[in-house]
Amino acid sequence: MEKYIIDSSAIFFRKGLYPSMVTVPEVIKEIRDSSSVDYLSFIDLEVKEPDGSCVEEIEKIAKRSGDIYRLSETDIKLLALALTVRKEGFEPVIVTDDYSIQNVAKIAQLKTDSIIQKGISKEFMWIRRCRGCKREVEDGTERCPICGSEIYLSRVKIKRDKT
Ligand SMILES: [Zn+2]
Repeated sequence: MEKYIIDSSAIFFRKGLYPSMVTVPEVIKEIRDSSSVDYLSFIDLEVKEPDGSCVEEIEKIAKRSGDIYRLSETDIKLLALALTVRKEGFEPVIVTDDYSIQNVAKIAQLKTDSIIQKGISKEFMWIRRCRGCKREVEDGTERCPICGSEIYLSRVKIKRDKT
């Protein structure tokens, strides 16, 4: 049986009703406008915390792919919730338009369904690069250690090797 993991944009855009929907408490807290609150009151949405071990697993993947800089705590919990649901024997589908969520989901072999944008076809990762000399720099450095220029995130495609 499939379970749909819903993020807040899915609620804002009133993405159709899925038979079985689940989200994390943080998503519910993000919903403030009254029409979305109304919408929430008549859809059947399960609110659930992900397993701690699943959160750690997602953080590990996101650090490796560089998506950790783009993901909010809520995003990580949504991805972890999908893993949790999978462990319980369901087939999770994450409903989101967020590219970083889609990317991490793909690496974790979780299905996604996009709301407006088309899903990404290639996996990519973020690399921290110097604006001046274009050198790749370590995590946590604010300025290039060589030329002192600003650091930016550069998106590169990756080939996944099966683990
Ligand atoms: Zn530099």
